[in-house]
Amino acid sequence: MLGGAVSSESGSGRPRVVVLGGGFAGLGAARKLEDADVDVVLVDANDYHSFQPMLYQLATGLLDTTAVAHSLRDLFQNQKNAIVHQATVSAIDLAGHEVQFADMPPLQYDYLVVGLGAIVQFFGCNGAAENAFPLYTVEDALRLRSHIVERWEAADRDPSLVQDGALNVVVVGGGPTGIESVGALSELYGSDFLKDYRGVPAGTARLTLVEAGPTLFPMFKPDIREYAHHELEERGVEVMVGERVEAVEPTRVKLASGTVLSAHTLVWGAGLQANPLTESLGVELQKGNRLAVDPELRLPDHPEVFAVGDAAWITDAATGEVLPQLGSVALQAGEQAGENIARLVAGKEPKPFKYHDKGTMAAIARGAAVAQLHGGRTMKGELAFLAWGAVHLTLLSAWEDRTKAMVDWTWGGFTHERPGRILVGEKEK
Ligand SMILES: Cc1cc2nc3c(=O)[nH]c(=O)nc-3n(C[C@H](O)[C@H](O)[C@H](O)COP(=O)(O)OP(=O)(O)OC[C@H]3O[C@@H](n4cnc5c(N)ncnc54)[C@H](O)[C@@H]3O)c2cc1C
Repeated sequence: MLGGAVSSESGSGRPRVVVLGGGFAGLGAARKLEDADVDVVLVDANDYHSFQPMLYQLATGLLDTTAVAHSLRDLFQNQKNAIVHQATVSAIDLAGHEVQFADMPPLQYDYLVVGLGAIVQFFGCNGAAENAFPLYTVEDALRLRSHIVERWEAADRDPSLVQDGALNVVVVGGGPTGIESVGALSELYGSDFLKDYRGVPAGTARLTLVEAGPTLFPMFKPDIREYAHHELEERGVEVMVGERVEAVEPTRVKLASGTVLSAHTLVWGAGLQANPLTESLGVELQKGNRLAVDPELRLPDHPEVFAVGDAAWITDAATGEVLPQLGSVALQAGEQAGENIARLVAGKEPKPFKYHDKGTMAAIARGAAVAQLHGGRTMKGELAFLAWGAVHLTLLSAWEDRTKAMVDWTWGGFTHERPGRILVGEKEK
């Protein structure tokens, strides 16, 4: 045990590992500690783990909430050395080895894992914080789903709203989040909604994807970019590259070029920054306020504190490259942090983190996905769609969730039906 640190809450005398965040990174770390001689305390502001990569499927009615959010207590039911608290971290005192919470007494730690993820970044775009729909949390996805269904219901009651852009959606960001979201919306608009709202003059409804850079999918090779562009246009999506959103109003989107788009919905899939708590730690930060870590994933000068996932700036020990903010990176880094803590407790040296790249993938629509594998090989279409499904199933946190997602995808694949397209929650004025 580290000198001067406080022993575990259970009075076991074993080192206490506090894991902040029950995302991919936190789950990876806490699970890897199952056999270690420690007490694990996992804390998250929510009582569930969210599966961000499929939030757009929740937002467009293909999956339901329990397919993308899993009870943390359920996930740790059988891990004897772990307990879960639902509480919101308000401060971390690195010198005092203590975490403070908005709604729970402070916790002292011997080892700390910071896996607090990231939040949306609007890059100072006027009106975006008030009027845009980000897609980073389960609440975001449900809010977007309700808003879109509500706009269709409103247009059903008053068809003149269609001319005002009630059904139009602008999606910002030509990376995976933006492309997957607009692709899923095109399916929802092109099948279910047309049949659901037969009286609505929906022929003029526009789905527009706006990307500030010169191309979609900048992280992929040119053949994938061209394929994605073509597949979206085939599905009726208007793709605007080299255009920057300057202001978002409730029913209008203004581009820096002067173009004004009528749209009652703007989905923001354009950027993120590390959890704001990173700024309060008084340690070195990298781009996007990410915490710089050493090869073993520890904060410099704080060898008992590990930072992993979207909140961290992780360099792959094998390639020397900074790793992207991806679920697979977060999960593997979390696991490495857990393993390293277990090694330290057992008196062994920690190991540097090496990322096992299974490729970068995105699903544009049913049967149309892209994948760029380690080594540069690319895949497009049905085969890439199967690879995307397989990789995402492995990321899901429980077999129950994998089965649920497979059943829903298969059902959706055969019937083209999105059973979650219902209006739940507060009604908009
Ligand atoms: C729409 C979308 C699509 C994506 N698609 C893919 C994809 O296809 N493939 C892929 O590999 N990656 C994808 N990603 C990225 C991937 O989801 C993230 O890289 C990953 O979730 C990061 O994991 P994490 O554990 O670091 O953070 P998170 O999963 O964000 O977890 C952070 C946790 O910290 C908790 N938390 C935050 N603040 C506090 C606080 N103050 N107190 C207590 N708890 C707090 C949160 O509730 C959350 O549970 C996608 C992301 C998004 C948003």
